[in-house]
Amino acid sequence: MNASDGVRPPVRTLVYDLENAPYPVNPVVANMRTIHDRISLEIMRGCVQSCRFCQAGYEKRPQRFRSAEKVIQLVKETYRNTGIHEVGLTSLSSSDHPGLLKILDGLRPWAKKNRVSLSVPSLRVSEQVVELPKRIADGRVGSITLAPEVSTPLGMCCRVGEACTQLSASDSSPR
Ligand code: SF4
Repeated sequence: MNASDGVRPPVRTLVYDLENAPYPVNPVVANMRTIHDRISLEIMRGCVQSCRFCQAGYEKRPQRFRSAEKVIQLVKETYRNTGIHEVGLTSLSSSDHPGLLKILDGLRPWAKKNRVSLSVPSLRVSEQVVELPKRIADGRVGSITLAPEVSTPLGMCCRVGEACTQLSASDSSPR
């Protein structure tokens, strides 16, 4: 497409500063039960794992984070404004957030006291994942969702381009 066609080429809009990006801490609260009735907070945007089959891994770069302090502040503020008792800490691959354990350690006593459930979906299997179950087990019903992508160990991981760690189920059980 040329500028001479009279149609401007699309320009990508990108939020570089996720830390200070607006987040709706005062969302509309439904007066009936709805699905996905939870505080959904994006802790990271983008992923640099380069899995060959994954479009988002290439399209959504660069990788950007919200700091642990910011995540904790936004979660508590949104809870205070809404009373919603479920919190989902989302991203393309949350185990790549360098402060994930710090976030969960910071939220854990508060979640236990207020009976808030914490969930961490979309986790690439990594060393950090081993520590997660005991950090979310204190609230109401917490969950983590692993996305191993392949069932065979390292050989297939290399083929699809994903960096993964071999873990057994007993490695990640709460202690
Ligand atoms: S880890 Fe997940 S989000 Fe990242 S590139 Fe691989 S499949 Fe995509």
